[in-house]
Amino acid sequence: MLDSLEWQGPVVWWNPVGGWRHAFTPDQRPHPGQERETLCERTVTLIEPSDVDWLMPTCDTCMTAAIRRRDDRTERDRHTHTGPWASPLFGHPPPAEPGGDTATDDYFPWSR
Ligand SMILES: [Zn+2]
Repeated sequence: MLDSLEWQGPVVWWNPVGGWRHAFTPDQRPHPGQERETLCERTVTLIEPSDVDWLMPTCDTCMTAAIRRRDDRTERDRHTHTGPWASPLFGHPPPAEPGGDTATDDYFPWSR
């Protein structure tokens, strides 16, 4: 039950640069001198942040993007935990599309 509360690594990295704290994709940990694209689509060269740098205001666009990524992850986890049996493929056949080919024919080829 506590599985979902396990630490899964950061959703984004934060790094203060250019007067703002920007967010970066989680695949690579930021390091000083690295050229990275922020989530607000700015290409910046990372600095070694000092304690003072961390007091910079947070970039609004990056914050919004970070929240969206966190929500996406939560959504994905829910699907992972419920497994394939919750997939529509294992439930009812998809509804026939109005006009054109019916999806039902593909779903039940033996009924032709
Ligand atoms: Zn930003």
